Amino acid sequence: MKGFDINRIVRKSVSVLQPYSSARDEYVSDGSEMIFLDANENPFDNGVNRYPDPYQRSLKSLLAEQKEVSPNQILFGNGSDEVLDLIFRAFCEPNQDNIITLPPTYGMYKVLAGINAVENKEILLTSDFEPNVPEILKVVDETTKIIFICSPNNPTGNSFNKETVRELLESFKGLVVIDEAYIDFSKDESWLSQLRKHPNLIVTQTLSKAYGLAGIRLGICYASEEIIGVLNKIKPPYNVNQLSQQRALQRVLNQDLVNQEVQQILDERTELMKALDSLEFVTKLYPTDANFVLAKVDDANKRYQQLLEKQVVVRNRSSQPLCENTLRFTVGTPEENKKLIAILKDIQ
Ligand SMILES: *Cc1c(COP(=O)(O)O)cnc(C)c1O
Repeated sequence: MKGFDINRIVRKSVSVLQPYSSARDEYVSDGSEMIFLDANENPFDNGVNRYPDPYQRSLKSLLAEQKEVSPNQILFGNGSDEVLDLIFRAFCEPNQDNIITLPPTYGMYKVLAGINAVENKEILLTSDFEPNVPEILKVVDETTKIIFICSPNNPTGNSFNKETVRELLESFKGLVVIDEAYIDFSKDESWLSQLRKHPNLIVTQTLSKAYGLAGIRLGICYASEEIIGVLNKIKPPYNVNQLSQQRALQRVLNQDLVNQEVQQILDERTELMKALDSLEFVTKLYPTDANFVLAKVDDANKRYQQLLEKQVVVRNRSSQPLCENTLRFTVGTPEENKKLIAILKDIQ
């Protein structure tokens, strides 16, 4: 988007806001022996008696290097959910602005729109699960602030066509958020390398899926320094706790293990898809670029219950538009996968 002006889309209350300045903002240790009597902490060391770094500098510099962005283009949140909520609160005026989402997709965009009193305009994906650009552009108005694109998309599993996404980035004057929660499983490249070209682009990722850290809640937002600056103004000062920062750092440093696990998940996905494909009650398997598979079955409620009786929980996505009678299978360990496949053959 050429001529994108962030000041045009930031909420007024946010642009005039004087952010809270925490003790750890005002003085950052340079590593020398200091006596910290500025934050009313308990002084006795137990590993977590000090407030964590509000800007998570160690983790940011590591990721900045890996992803080839500036540390000032990164914001972390308590899961992507917090990151997405911050984006709403920074840019959408309650009871006035609107956003666009593309169902069937991740349910949190709609929930966050509701919480923030922002109208959610829903434009269904096409029958091959691609964004319907003409219909999307038709509903854009002066108060449309954000389009949410999930690629690879949950629950359908596919990555969107690059040219389609590019068309939205270039013709929409607001923000385009590309949720890349599943990018580490994808054969497509991340949109991260396009940040410089598109000042209205926000890319979100997470350590909850490929990185195996759903329990620590760490979501990541990459954008221009201007956008990250606005989000930093409104984020709670200590939104990512110390233990999460430490675990994230260890894991990101151990990239080889992450890659190895991702490869194993992809191999298992192939096995699972072969097995699903051979089942009579599976009527359609959708192509996937993520760590899950969406399958259309004869009777989703019945198959869901049968699996549950065998202690296997999958996700019934039948209530989503275009997803009638579908089940979403997350790829498990080789052992889990083997058991699942045996059970699926058994309930034929
Ligand atoms: C799982 C998922 C997330 C991750 O959310 P976290 O809050 O980071 O755990 C984000 N977006 C999509 C589409 C997801 O499926």
